[in-house]
Amino acid sequence: MGYGMASVRYEIHLDGDGHLEMPEPIDLATKENKFGQRRPVPQVRRSGTKPPPILLADHAEYTLGLARKPEDTSKAAGRQQEYLQLLAQCVEATGNPVVASVYEFLAHDPVAQLHIPADFEPSGNIEFRVNGRLATEEADVRRFWGKRNQPDGDLMQCIVCNEQKPALDTLSGVIKGIPGGNATGTALITANEDAFLSYGLTQSKISPICLECADQFMKGLNALIANRSHSLRIQDTVYLFWTKEDVGFSIAGWFDAPDPNQVRELINSVRTGKHDPSVDAVPFYALALTANNARAVVRDWVDTTLGQVKASLGIWFAQQAIVGPYGEDPAPLGIYALAASTVRDPKKELTSLTVTTLLRSALAGTPPPDRLLQQVVRRCQVEQEVTRPRAALMKLVLSSQSPTQEDTMIELQPDHPESAYHCGRLLAVLEIIQRRSADGQLNTTLVDRFYGTASSAPASVFGTLIRGAQPHISKLRKNKPGLAVRLEQEMEDVLGALSTFPPILTAKQQALFALGYYHQRAFSRAQAQTAQLRRANANAAPDTDGTDTLSDEEAFQ
Ligand SMILES: [Zn+2]
Repeated sequence: MGYGMASVRYEIHLDGDGHLEMPEPIDLATKENKFGQRRPVPQVRRSGTKPPPILLADHAEYTLGLARKPEDTSKAAGRQQEYLQLLAQCVEATGNPVVASVYEFLAHDPVAQLHIPADFEPSGNIEFRVNGRLATEEADVRRFWGKRNQPDGDLMQCIVCNEQKPALDTLSGVIKGIPGGNATGTALITANEDAFLSYGLTQSKISPICLECADQFMKGLNALIANRSHSLRIQDTVYLFWTKEDVGFSIAGWFDAPDPNQVRELINSVRTGKHDPSVDAVPFYALALTANNARAVVRDWVDTTLGQVKASLGIWFAQQAIVGPYGEDPAPLGIYALAASTVRDPKKELTSLTVTTLLRSALAGTPPPDRLLQQVVRRCQVEQEVTRPRAALMKLVLSSQSPTQEDTMIELQPDHPESAYHCGRLLAVLEIIQRRSADGQLNTTLVDRFYGTASSAPASVFGTLIRGAQPHISKLRKNKPGLAVRLEQEMEDVLGALSTFPPILTAKQQALFALGYYHQRAFSRAQAQTAQLRRANANAAPDTDGTDTLSDEEAFQ
């Protein structure tokens, strides 16, 4: 109790009378562990202007009165006094001879007795061994420290175990490893300003927790954060996942770098309704944490079952499935790629809210908000480009709003009911016509100039664009008649699916426009690749129609 893992840099070895067994502190640092050995040692939460000493495992300012900076000399002397007082109390309470020897040594100018090497690290923690026995491992020292940190205040109902127990004034442990938090750690429950207090309860008693529960949940949180298969860090947020029992299901990798085969299996098992009742009922939890200086901030909390998570996750991956930009099979995207597609510079602009919202949609099936759709649509317009992550995210949001359609829209859908979708297709076809007729000699295409208008107000621009394509088609008819026939056919197909050019498109329709554009491009590129491959195979044979010859560059436009 009151113990936690920390690095110990030095050991000082004494005999039973408090004399040094060797003059130099033993340096426990190694190449792998440059801060020393990780061990369970007494811990206390340090904050404020008068941080308390740590029993028998503190750094040199407290243990030896050795200042880290020359100007701190008197502060260090004061700290050593507090350390010695604490030690004296421990000797008195336990009568332990090991602790008594340490006290004997420290009370008699330890710095003069020791030979302190030039590379001594004053911020490293120091422990003591007396005749080989480590002071902090003594059972009565542990009891003394546990009791000292046991609150003696009012009995309150612990919010974790529900028992009537003394509630802690302040929680002793800290959470380590939340991105952007204090290097020394962050606290989950703090109330150091009036605004955080309620019902006249101060400090941690605003949410009363007993010592045992605090100790356990703090250790649990730190273990989860340190474990790669239970945690995921994205920008300033750390996401933690765990199940009530260990059933060998680790979810972090699904969001980090999803494996296409595993994803396919998961989607299939969701569709066939395969269940494993013993595993599916296991409670599953997810927690999103950010740090605000010394405070941990809970961004999200998901409390469900493993069966629910698997079902949601399978649907989530099915909903984001979309062909690659050259018509490749769909490959699952990690959560960062999806979230990053909503902003220009993810390192600067990606918010915890966006990632958290997407994660919630994957774990609990909550549809992502329209805001994400609007953001992606805007990115496509600003950059005149529909990337695969953007297309996947738009499909995910749209599919989650009408869940029956998850199997559609993976690739080109010629019978799509929305005009907006076919407007996007038409823009792609017109772009291909322009590119092919120009033989790759273009600096800007009509997409660079018109994507924004075409995707928001189609009626205002498509008449002009279609007329503008006529000279390109005429040129193609002369130079590449076979290709001209195919492209004219594609244009006719698209126009045939379009009843009218809508004057204005909503954000959702603009997303459909983007998907139509993306699908059509992927389809045409795949076709061009196939044509090129066919030609390569029949390399030596004379070109049968002698017309539709593609250069490499063209084929991959
Ligand atoms: Zn409790």
